[in-house]
Amino acid sequence: MSIETPTLPIEQETNPWMAQAARFDIAARKLNLDEGLWKVLRYPNREITVHIPVQLDNGKLEIFTGYRVQHSIARGPAKGGIRYSPDVTLDEVRALASWMTWKCAVVNIPFGGAKGGVICDPKKMSRSELERMTRRYTAELFEFIGPEKDVPAPDMNTNEQTMAWIMDTYSMHMRQTVTAVVTGKPENMGGSKGRREATGRGVWVVTDEALKRFNLQRESTRVIVQGFGNVGSNAARLMHSAGYKIIGIDEYDGGLYNKNGIDINALVEHRAKTGSVTGFKGAEAVGAHELLIADCDVLIPAATENVITTRNADKIKARILIEGANGPTTAVADDILADKNIFVVPDILANAGGVTTSYFEWVQDRQGYFWQESVVNQQLDHIMRSSFDAVVSYAQQHSVNNRIAAYMVAIDRVQAVIRQRGIYA
Ligand code: NAD
Repeated sequence: MSIETPTLPIEQETNPWMAQAARFDIAARKLNLDEGLWKVLRYPNREITVHIPVQLDNGKLEIFTGYRVQHSIARGPAKGGIRYSPDVTLDEVRALASWMTWKCAVVNIPFGGAKGGVICDPKKMSRSELERMTRRYTAELFEFIGPEKDVPAPDMNTNEQTMAWIMDTYSMHMRQTVTAVVTGKPENMGGSKGRREATGRGVWVVTDEALKRFNLQRESTRVIVQGFGNVGSNAARLMHSAGYKIIGIDEYDGGLYNKNGIDINALVEHRAKTGSVTGFKGAEAVGAHELLIADCDVLIPAATENVITTRNADKIKARILIEGANGPTTAVADDILADKNIFVVPDILANAGGVTTSYFEWVQDRQGYFWQESVVNQQLDHIMRSSFDAVVSYAQQHSVNNRIAAYMVAIDRVQAVIRQRGIYA
């Protein structure tokens, strides 16, 4: 297997695996990474595909395809979410698994990286169909997951309930309750205080740090957030409470804009009541995705991947881009953002608050001792601020952008462990 050069053909721009590999290659080359280690780290360690039979409510059997990719277990058990979506592909899951390895290493927590996905449309499935699918997916992965092996968590379209079903199914097979097999569980069954909002909280903390670099005050900072799900709504809510002006919210079915700032608590209530952000009275309705290129200081894509591409990157007006989602910017668009001098806080740093608090949850489950919320938030705050400093200082010292700096810091930490352990080849 030879090492390819990091030129990414434009038609592959939105393939997240190619985007991940392109950044990895740039960082590995700058690190002068040993060729053997380069090959080891570039490819996932293990890729599992399962075809799951599920009995639908109408009595018929349907087969769903699911994946679990474990990119690395060098620094500890593999860690990463599970997403349910009609668009899931193996390449996407591979990319997300690799990002988890780098993310855990950037914030220096003792995990490797993994990700899972099931191709399904959860909006068209009943709760009991989702439960049966989740349980069978868990049973198929039984020997590959576990507190010391691979610890799943929620991601797009999965939540605390999904984690409770996984924990229960795994525990039934083990004949004992094993809380540490997943994180992001409900609090009354071993979940951590603060986990639900942790990714959004981390996004807020790194935004605060970025503001300091520009001498900006929260009150005069105009923010646009894409995606009002777990990450986007919690980031928006916490930042709104801290004084930021959230002037735009972009969702898949439409956007909201108010130059004086949107009342985020009222919007959370509206969304809970109606299931959508549309129809909210406290802001003007705008077309979906117009807001990505609207005038603002901070843009937070917190929905999905590939929303900042060669098609719109040159039109972005924000000074600071905080990647709440995984892979929102394509590798080709990175250069355009760099030419525009946009300060990017890359996904593997910006959204690492979730996995950091998942680490706290795993620690608490294994100790059987649960922390106060203030302790969780304080520890999270400390890790996010120090990781931000480490990445941004590294970027300055080595004259690279923040994204490549984050990859370099992470790859260096992972390769150091592999070197010490030695390769069983
Ligand atoms: P979620 O399902 O709770 O929310 C996603 C939101 O984005 C939904 O409201 C959805 O309607 C909206 N959306 C989807 N596609 C859109 C589009 N094209 N344009 C505008 N809006 C769109 O998911 P989440 O957990 O908030 O995750 C969002 C992103 O953050 C994903 O990339 C995920 O991998 C990443 N992430 C999540 C966590 C976590 O703890 N939940 C941690 C790290 C990274």
